[in-house]
Amino acid sequence: MTVTVATLGFPRIGPKRELKTALENYWAGKTPESALLATASALRATAWKQQRELGAEIIPSNDFSLYDHVLDTSAMVGVIPEIYGWKGGQAGLETYFAMARGAQGGAAEESCTHGHAHTGHGAPAAEMTKWFDTNYHYLVPEFAADQNFRLASTKALNEYLEAKALGIETRPVLLGPVSYLLLGKNTGNKFDPLSLLARLLPVYREVLQSLVRAGAQWVQIDEPCLVLDLPDAAQAAFMHAYDVLVAAEPQLRVMLTTYFGALGDNLATVLALPVHGLHIDLIRAPEQLAAVLAGARPDLVLSLGVIDGRNVWKADLNEILDRIEPVVHAGRRIILAPSCSLLHTPIDLERETELDPDIKNWLAFAVQKIKELSILRRALNEGRESVRNILDDSSRAVASRRTSGKINDSAVKTRTAHVDPSLARRASPFQIRRELQKQKLNLPPYPTTTIGSFPQTPEVRKARAEHGNGIIADAVYEQFLREETLRAVRWQEDVGLDVLVHGEFERNDMVQYFGEQLSGFIFTKHAWVQSYGSRYVRPPIIFGDVARPKPMTVEWWRYAQSLTNRPVKGMLTGPVTILNWSFVRDDQPRSETCRQIAFAIRDEVADLEAAGASIIQIDEAALREGLPLRRDEWRNYLGWAVECFRIAASGVGDATQIHTHMCYSEFNDIISSIAAMDADVISIETARSKMELLDAFSGYQYPAEIGPGVYDIHSPRVPEVLEMTTLLKAAAARLPADQLWVNPDCGLKTRKWPEVRLAIENMVAAALAARI
Ligand code: GLN
Ligand code: ZN
Repeated sequence: MTVTVATLGFPRIGPKRELKTALENYWAGKTPESALLATASALRATAWKQQRELGAEIIPSNDFSLYDHVLDTSAMVGVIPEIYGWKGGQAGLETYFAMARGAQGGAAEESCTHGHAHTGHGAPAAEMTKWFDTNYHYLVPEFAADQNFRLASTKALNEYLEAKALGIETRPVLLGPVSYLLLGKNTGNKFDPLSLLARLLPVYREVLQSLVRAGAQWVQIDEPCLVLDLPDAAQAAFMHAYDVLVAAEPQLRVMLTTYFGALGDNLATVLALPVHGLHIDLIRAPEQLAAVLAGARPDLVLSLGVIDGRNVWKADLNEILDRIEPVVHAGRRIILAPSCSLLHTPIDLERETELDPDIKNWLAFAVQKIKELSILRRALNEGRESVRNILDDSSRAVASRRTSGKINDSAVKTRTAHVDPSLARRASPFQIRRELQKQKLNLPPYPTTTIGSFPQTPEVRKARAEHGNGIIADAVYEQFLREETLRAVRWQEDVGLDVLVHGEFERNDMVQYFGEQLSGFIFTKHAWVQSYGSRYVRPPIIFGDVARPKPMTVEWWRYAQSLTNRPVKGMLTGPVTILNWSFVRDDQPRSETCRQIAFAIRDEVADLEAAGASIIQIDEAALREGLPLRRDEWRNYLGWAVECFRIAASGVGDATQIHTHMCYSEFNDIISSIAAMDADVISIETARSKMELLDAFSGYQYPAEIGPGVYDIHSPRVPEVLEMTTLLKAAAARLPADQLWVNPDCGLKTRKWPEVRLAIENMVAAALAARI
């Protein structure tokens, strides 16, 4: 039987970020709706044609989105909370973007300092959260207990017809009803969203029926929740949903897609569903192939996710064929596909003209991945000989990566091979360190500080861009940064902060700044991936052993400290965060790569201490983000993640105070790991939770010091003194006052100076009030 190639979804943003430009012009009122829609439709047409030319036979439609595909699904089924004023009928763009970004009058959503999602204070935008363990964020559907569902968007049908009009037959993609419900929330979690399934299904039936009438043969229904730990009720919901949907449209064939992990304990349920095809992720879970083959009905079409949709590496095609050939020869109908939608990969490697050619030869982005699939298809259908050279090139590329001198640094390997446990342990326990730090720092109760960055003003960005383009010389740029730093230090002294920062004016991004100075990292020019809405990021690529050739931050710290007698914090990004916000090499365990980064940061910590820093902050904003999807894998991850932080932090003397910082995060289920990090001070985001997030710390009797954020930095709003005193009281009701610090929620990079000045003045006043 001939093998075919499918893609499950293609990047939406356009090769030149055309969608971002079109969206932002439309939001700014510079262009009409028609211009945005025209750009969107041109991007879809290009993507369809490109996928066809690259050799994909099964091409998705409705994978495109103006903002987010979960929001599209909410629009499709009419889950539009009343505040958006939707009156029924088709939900228009205004309603759609009001849900995405807040309605008029409310503040638009703000990003935290790393372009990751947060929602603005008081903004009635829907809540945003991470899409599984990716860095993509979706808008969380919010269900009412009496939620009604009705068709409010025919986007799926429209886009199917749009492709058809171009002569391209597509397989429409829908987010499955069960995953959709499971990804949603209801106020106070008062009921089980799955109880809404029976009411939701008729809308899905309507959509499927419209697609069948328009001529669709297959539909791709994504149920990524099938790789999660699920309650029993969910298994029953899957059975019910697919019984209903498949029976409703007997002509339509359903490809049920699962990705981001193994089906595991959900496999039996999945194999009992009356669907016509099943897609499984063989990158994250290659071992599940045997069990799926053993249990699947002979007529079940299998779509094998053999090319990594979550990473940027070229595949060894011979190695894949060795595994897949026997499956194909067994006679079942097989489709080859990426492990998941290509949404999470950059579009086209060919645009990177400045990469080291050796390294470029190891990479594959979305376009290259589809080519890889079509080569695999040819090898399976016509024999390996028909594409022998290409297959062997791919194997050689992967082999050369393994043995390349560019990747292997024997000094790094030796150092990380034998981690003496004492390297991950401070000399003395916290209580002893605390006394020594108190003596050395002599800080008042409720000490005040900030998280690190100060506003990246248009002038700062302009200077950086001009320096990058060679328009201004190094010396001029440095002088500019010195002046910014000087002003920031003077201002912090004037406003009365106790522990100062240099302001991070020299940093473009908290990961990139370090990646650019570490060996083993490369950066691209155009390899953007969507983080949320029109926000895209260009993650660094960790290709080789990581080392720190020379100090990265010491000179800026030294300069800032030379300006003041108050302590200036050394400011670093932690190993786990650097790892979680990068594309990571796949030829060794992530834990090993993380450990290498940890040693590099450890060296920086040592140099800061040697230069005289008495406080060093190691940010781990993304520690929680890296949690595996399955609960039984948490222990392992948290074990090495915490160890890596400790390797980075433990090289200093007892009197040197180690801080860490985490952005918005639930702490309840990971509090013992947070404690095991053994930082002397942790600052966290709490302002919007009204200090409720501190309950995890008080319940655990967390021993060390904590700076719960009292200033929500995601909003331009300046909090009053009284608001912050109230928050400090709420904190002091939960934890002993001598454990508390006073600081904002996060860095102030995205704010403007006038707001920051007032807010920090108020914050210092609140701390002074608390001291009495
Ligand atoms: N030190 C960083 C800053 O202030 C921390 C940012 C973060 O955790 N996202 O910008
Ligand atoms: Zn933060």
